[in-house]
Amino acid sequence: MDAEIIAVGSELLTPERLDTNSLWLTAQLNALGIEVVTKMVIGDDRERLAQAVRTVLARSPLLLVTGGLGPTEDDVTREAVAEALGRELVFHPEILAAIEERFRRAGRVMAEINRRQAFLIEGAEALPNPVGTAPGQWIRLDDRAVVLLPGPPGELKPMFTDHVLPRLRAIAPPLVIRTRTYRVAGIAESDLDQRISPVYKRYANLSTTVLAAPGDIQVHLRARCQDEREAEALLQEVGHQIEAILGDRIYSPGEPLEVLVGNLLRQRRATLAVAESCTGGLLAERITSVPGSSDYFLGGFLVYSNQAKRDLAGVPASLLEEHGPVSEPVARALAEGTRARTGASYALAVTGIAGPGGGTEATPVGTAYLAVAGPEGTSARRFRFLGDRERVRAFAAQTALDMLRRRILGLPEIPGLAPS
Ligand code: AMP
Ligand code: MG
Repeated sequence: MDAEIIAVGSELLTPERLDTNSLWLTAQLNALGIEVVTKMVIGDDRERLAQAVRTVLARSPLLLVTGGLGPTEDDVTREAVAEALGRELVFHPEILAAIEERFRRAGRVMAEINRRQAFLIEGAEALPNPVGTAPGQWIRLDDRAVVLLPGPPGELKPMFTDHVLPRLRAIAPPLVIRTRTYRVAGIAESDLDQRISPVYKRYANLSTTVLAAPGDIQVHLRARCQDEREAEALLQEVGHQIEAILGDRIYSPGEPLEVLVGNLLRQRRATLAVAESCTGGLLAERITSVPGSSDYFLGGFLVYSNQAKRDLAGVPASLLEEHGPVSEPVARALAEGTRARTGASYALAVTGIAGPGGGTEATPVGTAYLAVAGPEGTSARRFRFLGDRERVRAFAAQTALDMLRRRILGLPEIPGLAPS
């Protein structure tokens, strides 16, 4: 079953407030096998809202509207939905009595405007609101349903759980959604999609999302099936094919690369140090963002200047003179010097040109040399990362971690990224 959500409230159209209700509702609906296919944010505008409700009901079997059920003039959801459905609003004295009772218990007198909250759309069932004054509403229209929920998350959540969920269970065809994630490094997004889309496009009840960050791609598979077994079998079938295509470029089923590399180091009782030039600490920041990284991370050197490369990591002045700071021999010397001076099992080194200035014809902006030194020896490679300064730095840090992962696991060097 497909659903749509409309979040009502002019404040949700400002930069100050975000519609979070729809995120929470989407998670709940997905757990029932209901997919949210469209969501909207509409200000406190009766005409626009009525029009949107009519549009949604012409194409989707389930509509959830949140917000706009308050007592004030700007709360127009009741009126707008009634108008869209061509139904009257009906006054319910028992709802008014409950609202009045709520005020009495709080030692207050109900304001006259709260009367508006005692109106239900003709044919609607009231959904009790023990936390606030506005009841929700459940409206069945032949094979469709409309649900009105209060805006405050603290009122919406219990009302949904206690009163909407059981009703949806009764009408939603039994469907389960199961997901699987692959995190991938060492391949460009377009290249990855070109390779795996022939696989995932063949399955109608599977949706695939590819989320890309510099050097880091997540592939999310979502299977929608009649039961759990079928969903797991579908994920298994598609997953096998994707694993065969992407091979060791897949680095984890969800955890970030710094977590995975940390686990690899810990399992081997190995330690790590870094020497960073153009990433300026980004690599160390990522490594140390993982709780417990002190088990394997010793520290590092911020070797931004030639002097720091010499003094901190012991790069010979002659090497810097001869090849320049952004060069393979210097990357290699940085990694080896850092490993020797810290006594770490592995050392990673990054030296490059993040831009926007500083590039030359021979060494354009985005060029980076990454090196890893370890018990098996040292390897260094030239990369050319595309994008602005932030992207180049993010790419360099991610790729350095991937080089270390490959080294520790004894995998071949990053494929498909030929030195430029
Ligand atoms: P309302 O029911 O429109 O009077 O909304 C009351 C309050 O609930 C608003 O002032 C917001 O703070 C909050 N609220 C309304 N809609 C949302 C939403 N979609 N997501 C998160 N908070 C909301
Ligand atoms: Mg509002």
